[in-house]
Amino acid sequence: MSRVVLVTGGNRGIGLAIAREFAAAGNTVVVTHRSGEPPEGLHGVTCDVTDSAAVDAAFSQVESEHGPVEVLVANAGVTKDGLLMRMPEEAFTDVLDANLTGAWRVTQRATRGMMKARFGRLIYISSVVGLTGAPGQVNYAASKAGLVGMARSVARELGGRGVTANVVAPGYVDTEMTAELSDKRREELMAAIPLGRTASPEEIAKAVAFLASDDAAYITGAVLPVDGGVGMGH
Ligand code: NDP
Repeated sequence: MSRVVLVTGGNRGIGLAIAREFAAAGNTVVVTHRSGEPPEGLHGVTCDVTDSAAVDAAFSQVESEHGPVEVLVANAGVTKDGLLMRMPEEAFTDVLDANLTGAWRVTQRATRGMMKARFGRLIYISSVVGLTGAPGQVNYAASKAGLVGMARSVARELGGRGVTANVVAPGYVDTEMTAELSDKRREELMAAIPLGRTASPEEIAKAVAFLASDDAAYITGAVLPVDGGVGMGH
């Protein structure tokens, strides 16, 4: 069935792979982007998820151009790594604001239409690190763990309205985000992956597409790891 899908941060990396997966299946896909043009073949809307007014305006634009959002993929995310002792407060609050509060902003705005339609699919891109923790990532891990509590609360609040909320927890995926890692950290991470390789963004996209599909209608409040075995299902 063709749906209206919004992917935050869908202009590159994992978000772009997710957007392309939904588009290939015949859905109407809109990606948020903060600058420039949307990727070719996809609809775009400018939106910074740290700005409530921008989120509201982006949804209004999608609604007027394509109809209410039926599938929301909260994928936008940032890192500002550093050891706890040396982490400036804004490195913590900025990461929480983008990764967790940003997901909350888009969820609150999207669920208005979903409740009315008595249908909705909310999918949050967390991380294996949200459940295992990682040195140098107290901010990022806290934001990603927070998505699990948020998804499960939304799942309980809106289950009766036909809205499901699930989390995908990727492991190590080759994107610009992981290109920033030091060689030493990359070696450590690779050594901890039972499957012995990184994931492609497309492998994450397949899991997201499944959770949005009719086949996943009875799955809500779940965390689906796509991590090569790093978290062993958590
Ligand atoms: P990238 O750095 O390649 O892309 C991040 C995306 O998020 C970009 O589209 C970026 O937009 C967008 N974004 C960041 N901040 C904001 C904001 N304030 N408002 C709107 N959009 C924003 O990262 P990945 O593709 O690797 O990561 C995607 C998601 O997957 C993230 O949530 C990340 O935490 C998660 N993840 C990634 C893993 C990995 O190994 N790569 C592993 C586990 C989880 P712009 O282009 O404007 O900067």
